[in-house]
Amino acid sequence: MIDAHCHLSHPKFDADRHQVIERAKNHLVALFETGGNLEQNQHALELSMSHKKFIYAGVGLAPHYALEADAKKEFEFIERNADHIKAIGEIGLEYHYFAEEQARERQKIIFREQLILAEKIGVPVVIHCREAWDDLLLILKDFPLQKVMLHFFNKHSYLQESLRRGYYISIATLKSKDVDKIIRDAPLNSLLTETDSPYLWQGERNEPSNVRFVYDRISEIKKVPVEQVRQSVMATTSQFFEIVF
Ligand SMILES: [Zn+2]
Repeated sequence: MIDAHCHLSHPKFDADRHQVIERAKNHLVALFETGGNLEQNQHALELSMSHKKFIYAGVGLAPHYALEADAKKEFEFIERNADHIKAIGEIGLEYHYFAEEQARERQKIIFREQLILAEKIGVPVVIHCREAWDDLLLILKDFPLQKVMLHFFNKHSYLQESLRRGYYISIATLKSKDVDKIIRDAPLNSLLTETDSPYLWQGERNEPSNVRFVYDRISEIKKVPVEQVRQSVMATTSQFFEIVF
């Protein structure tokens, strides 16, 4: 199994990060640590260096930090470490927490710049989107060659358009009716799996080994053996991030 998106640099893991990673190693083939600002990106790189061939790093400037961050510095960091990263992410648009037009415009600029950067250094992108799907899909249209992973995809109404464009659909641990419909209607070979740890969990804290519940869910809804889901997700993840597991 694979966790294609998590945040082990989060302070919630400060006390027992090592144990969480060891637990993950017992169940998973790989996990993808995703940053959103300079501090998190640095941490993601460090984790990937100290757990080679198990933890892989994605770095980026998330929309949550678009207003406050020194974007130039963030982009320099990404370019400088291009050889050590597997994706630019998470990047995208977050409208739920940012209602002001100015903040949203800034997010769009930052997002576009990172799509250009991803094209330049030749890595896939990991997308965060909340209440901004129309704007997001419009911007992505200008970048036809991108390999795009829609992290925690949970809007069934945007599924067909996303599939038509060849985007990868990442199913997270948090259950909903829409996510069930997405699992039902998306082809198995378009699906990736993630926890978004420490988020997207009913309990206190999510962690990568919980990704097994996503596999159970896909197996149940698509009526295919869990082993087949594992094989498929591994092949899709391998193709997406260009990693041989
Ligand atoms: Zn995330």
